[in-house]
Amino acid sequence: MPLLGSWLGPRFRKDGMRRLRPGVYRDICWDDSEWSDILEKSVRGNFDSYTEELADSLKHAIMRTFHGCRTDDAGIYFREGLRLHDRREMTAKLRTIIEENAELHWMRDRVDEAIREVDNTLDEGRLYVVADDTVLLKHAAHYLIYGSEWITAVLGGPGHRVLKNIGVPTLLEIDLPLSMSTSQTRTELAVKMLNEWTRFTCNAPDWSAPIDFSFCLRADVPASCIVGHSHPAELHDPLNGRALYRPLKTACAYCGQRLPL
Ligand SMILES: [Zn+2]
Repeated sequence: MPLLGSWLGPRFRKDGMRRLRPGVYRDICWDDSEWSDILEKSVRGNFDSYTEELADSLKHAIMRTFHGCRTDDAGIYFREGLRLHDRREMTAKLRTIIEENAELHWMRDRVDEAIREVDNTLDEGRLYVVADDTVLLKHAAHYLIYGSEWITAVLGGPGHRVLKNIGVPTLLEIDLPLSMSTSQTRTELAVKMLNEWTRFTCNAPDWSAPIDFSFCLRADVPASCIVGHSHPAELHDPLNGRALYRPLKTACAYCGQRLPL
């Protein structure tokens, strides 16, 4: 907040702060785009050029982001980084899961058909990380409970029990160089940051807005950017009416092997 304030300072109109903070509480929801309109009236010149300028500056920033997955060894991410969704590799993984679990053997001959039925190629060559672990755990815990969304979709309901027995729900922490994101994504982030700064400056709330923001990446994240991991003990399952889910294991081969301090 202070950094953004200093960055905005020279761009403010003389009466900018009065325009921004008229002395009354602004009854506007945290995610309302009206915050941009309020800030726009308080600064000089073209507001859009400011968001682009900020997006450009963000190119040099590194942001702590998160990725949910299910693995029995988080060490692989520290060794190999976070890799793009490779459909051939994922299909091989899917077939292995079917092969290794007798209750899924009936699917052996209809894998291609199930893949066609799911008909989803959106993930191919992409990977996603998010800016807020709280939002991820609250609304998208299925990535941690079941692992790959695509494999979960192809296996359908019969695969849920099996997937919940492979690996451990894992939350990865990634220090993402924002140069890896597109300039459009950085502009969207810049707008969110400016809106939140404006809300804070106007209303002085005692809570931060959730940062509901995803980065869609088109390149592998190097291992050097993976900075931490954890295994949540409780999750709410969005695929099962948000029922409470407690994994049997809360350590993987990587953290389980580390000697206690
Ligand atoms: Zn672990």
